[in-house]
Amino acid sequence: MDLGLKGRKAIVCAASKGLGRACAMALAAEGVDLVITARTEATLEKTAREITDATGVHVTPVAGDITTDAGRAAALAACPSPDILVNNAGGPPPGDYHDWGREEWLAAVEANMLTPILLIKAVADGMIERKFGRIVNITSSAVKAPIGILGLSNGARAGLTGFVAGLARETVAHNVTINNLLPGPFDTDRLQQNIVAGAKRTGKDAEEIRKARMASNPARRFGRPEEFGAACAFLCASGSGFITGQNLLLDGGAFPGTL
Ligand code: NAP
Repeated sequence: MDLGLKGRKAIVCAASKGLGRACAMALAAEGVDLVITARTEATLEKTAREITDATGVHVTPVAGDITTDAGRAAALAACPSPDILVNNAGGPPPGDYHDWGREEWLAAVEANMLTPILLIKAVADGMIERKFGRIVNITSSAVKAPIGILGLSNGARAGLTGFVAGLARETVAHNVTINNLLPGPFDTDRLQQNIVAGAKRTGKDAEEIRKARMASNPARRFGRPEEFGAACAFLCASGSGFITGQNLLLDGGAFPGTL
């Protein structure tokens, strides 16, 4: 299926690994030229080469912390007029709300609410002028089904979700859509790190925890990053201009609700 994206330009944030990388790869497979970001330069450059080798598109790696003004400015300088923006950053650490003070909350809000909002603000007017824009925010299934130990994530991402719900209904008249992708358990470095941390905390075997978590999902497995990338590319398609303000859960059916 041709998504009608050939020759478009995208910024994909936090894209050297995991879900961001998968979104970048899926867009590149559709002929989208990319600016990708991450903090670790060597990994980012390797990913950029791999994407170019696999798809032939032009990929510009911009190393930096996307949660800082400097990191965002560098990404935007490399691609001032993107057609597509994929917002992503590392998630806040798990913990207990008794331990979270102002600093912890500000860091979570900065990374998972303000960073995507400021990037949207920087690109949306240009997209509206050019009559095409696709913005996808990577959030979390925890927005829909909050997880206690992920309170920082639940709170900060809910703020982004609320903001997007309003703006997405203003921009859509100009063929600029804004949607959120909500990952459940996807088999990335981050998921594996969480499993290993859980094993250390509980004294259980990491492989056992991994198997039990997979078995507890209706799909009996974790999501594959390329499945996440495919959903991102679909939301960015030229034919997806009537989908906006949505929260698409990709969790293998783990959320038990009808709607
Ligand atoms: P991952 O495999 O650890 O990859 C994270 C990527 O983001 C790496 O490329 C990392 O590179 C980059 N990154 C992290 N912080 C950054 C920053 N401040 N500035 C720029 N780049 C940054 O993680 P993932 O599993 O793909 O998760 C992506 C997002 O989805 C996270 O917010 C996570 O909380 C959320 N999520 C994931 C799952 C899951 O099951 N995987 C489930 C729910 C929600 P550097 O470290 O080099 O910067």
